[in-house]
Amino acid sequence: MLHPGSLCCNSSHCTWTSSHEMLRPYILKPFHIFQNVSKNTGINNIGRSLRVPPFMASQLPAATTEHQLVSTQDGSSQNTAPQPLQVAKRLEKFKTTIFTQMSSLAIKHGAINLGQGFPNFDGPEFVKEAAIQAIRDGKNQYARGYGIPDLNSAVADRFKKETGLTVDPEKEVTVTSGCTEAIAATILGLINPGDEVILFAPFYDSYEATLSMAGAKIKSVTLKPPNFSIPIDELKSIVSKNTRAILMNTPHNPTGKMFTRDELNVIASLCIEHDVLVFSDEVYDKLAFEMDHISIASLSGMYDRTVTLNSLGKTFSLTGWKIGWAVAPAHLTWGVRQAHSFLTFATSTPMQYAAATALRAPDSYYEELRRDYIAKKTILVEGLESVGFTVYPSSGTYFVVVDHTPFGLENDVAFCEYLIKEVGVVAIPTSVFYLNPEEGKNLVRFTFCKDEGTLRSAVERMKEKLLKK
Ligand code: GLN
Repeated sequence: MLHPGSLCCNSSHCTWTSSHEMLRPYILKPFHIFQNVSKNTGINNIGRSLRVPPFMASQLPAATTEHQLVSTQDGSSQNTAPQPLQVAKRLEKFKTTIFTQMSSLAIKHGAINLGQGFPNFDGPEFVKEAAIQAIRDGKNQYARGYGIPDLNSAVADRFKKETGLTVDPEKEVTVTSGCTEAIAATILGLINPGDEVILFAPFYDSYEATLSMAGAKIKSVTLKPPNFSIPIDELKSIVSKNTRAILMNTPHNPTGKMFTRDELNVIASLCIEHDVLVFSDEVYDKLAFEMDHISIASLSGMYDRTVTLNSLGKTFSLTGWKIGWAVAPAHLTWGVRQAHSFLTFATSTPMQYAAATALRAPDSYYEELRRDYIAKKTILVEGLESVGFTVYPSSGTYFVVVDHTPFGLENDVAFCEYLIKEVGVVAIPTSVFYLNPEEGKNLVRFTFCKDEGTLRSAVERMKEKLLKK
């Protein structure tokens, strides 16, 4: 049995500053979410209105204040009195994203970062050259709000190639600042306060936060290991005439699960029967290893009720460029574009030119990408298995989820803290991706979007420190 050690001072004077070392609870769930589990877990009542699962209780802020350094006119800085942190109600239960927390801890502890999903290698030269050229050519003022014509066309061409569907680049494609903005524009543009939206847990963190901003009522069905299959009966039981949309993600972050044609058919027939929209996040579509990716929009009767969301970042190893898009029929694109117009208005112009070049890459680019990632995945999966983890099958994405319980830590957060401080490797605790965090407490996510040497070093560190126990 390992002990995570004391990572937090836990003292009453401890303030919740940005330099605080320990993992912060990412989401403080409001009471209603835990009502149905309180018998089993024992809920600690902390603070005015927040209740959290016991395993995160020791990580709550002792005081919700933050010291700030303020610059004075002569250029010096001075410490001000603590100011209460302020945030609108629609976001008050959310904390610094888990990805930001874990990447900061990776730097602080010199740990190998297999947490946040960003490649530690660069994107392709031909795409970077296209961006440089666009800047030199003076493509530097606002772009057309919904995308430069060339990129809208490139997105429509790619969509046609993958789904067989012909879409109008002028009326059915919207370019956004990354897929996260496409998700936000879709939700804010098409969901009314009180609308019910269904998620598949574990789910990507921005879904819940953005639905909360829109005032949606969130329901979820949980994909469980080992296969993370959709619990069909449960899904059928929660889809009703009150459901406005299902927000799904395939290939699925964090599990690597890919939705099968049978599962997609079930979702499609439920949506058609109950007149439900689908928002489908497909940013890992080109990282499909074990089966072919299927866009739900391509199923009969679905295009008219689907917004398909995608981006450049994962496929071209350019996560910092933040180029994304939404493809949807004109009547849904209207809502997406209205929200996009007032969120960001337009997306970086030269990067859009480069993105259009990227999307016209030959098939050989995607084949090589997949070959490289299969090699990386093999190193990580075999390594994790040799360390003693139960590694669940991942068909797509650049993530794998493992069961950490063979090492005796009480939950995913405790395990990740131990892994950073004692082993020098960063993973992502998955409990933050569930409405009920208890459901993720045995699972942590590792990414393999790192060079092979980095993956091997991480495995070596784990073998040395975890195997010995
Ligand atoms: N999509 C990335 C991941 O899942 C993280 C993006 C972010 O940090 N918001 O790791």
